[in-house]
Amino acid sequence: MPEAPVLMVGNDESAVETELVTGQLSCPCCAEQLGPWGHARFRVLRRRGGEEERLRPRRGRCRGCGKTHVLLCDEALLRRRDEVAVIGEAIEAKAAGIGHRRIAVHLDVPAWRVRRWLRRFSERAVAICEHFSRWSFALDISLSPSGPGRGALVDAVEAIGVAARAAVLRHGPRPAWCFASFASGGVLLANARCPLPPVP
Ligand SMILES: [Zn+2]
Repeated sequence: MPEAPVLMVGNDESAVETELVTGQLSCPCCAEQLGPWGHARFRVLRRRGGEEERLRPRRGRCRGCGKTHVLLCDEALLRRRDEVAVIGEAIEAKAAGIGHRRIAVHLDVPAWRVRRWLRRFSERAVAICEHFSRWSFALDISLSPSGPGRGALVDAVEAIGVAARAAVLRHGPRPAWCFASFASGGVLLANARCPLPPVP
């Protein structure tokens, strides 16, 4: 049975707790209200520089469909240990034409890991570009999708940047790659069997 999708939330734990207990969070499957439902398993988030942080995400249960969902903070991506800011920096560097070995040295992570992030992002780049173009349009109707530009990976990075800026103008500050994690439902670097969630 496929895993129920996670719900991406902000990184302020007490704010998330308040939203959860006051019924402000919606089920990603059916949009009904989520109520508190214990905690998920511990997970590790590897920060820039290699420091590892143990997190225990909250879990919510839908009052409509009954599914439980892990509330994952938008600094993380599903099934990735590294924080999304570091992964995003690697992807931006690649878009700027830097090779994966140099990126790995700069970020102090193994080259194979950087190559894996970049490969996965490239595989999904067309879908990611379309997804974030839709987000841009949803956030600001004047942002029409731009045509193909300098290759799928660069186009996808640009589409994320445009949507993230529109999100900041509309909703206030949020780091671009945290927005990317949130708006991709955490599956930015998942394989094609994990579809990107619908754009609201
Ligand atoms: Zn539900």
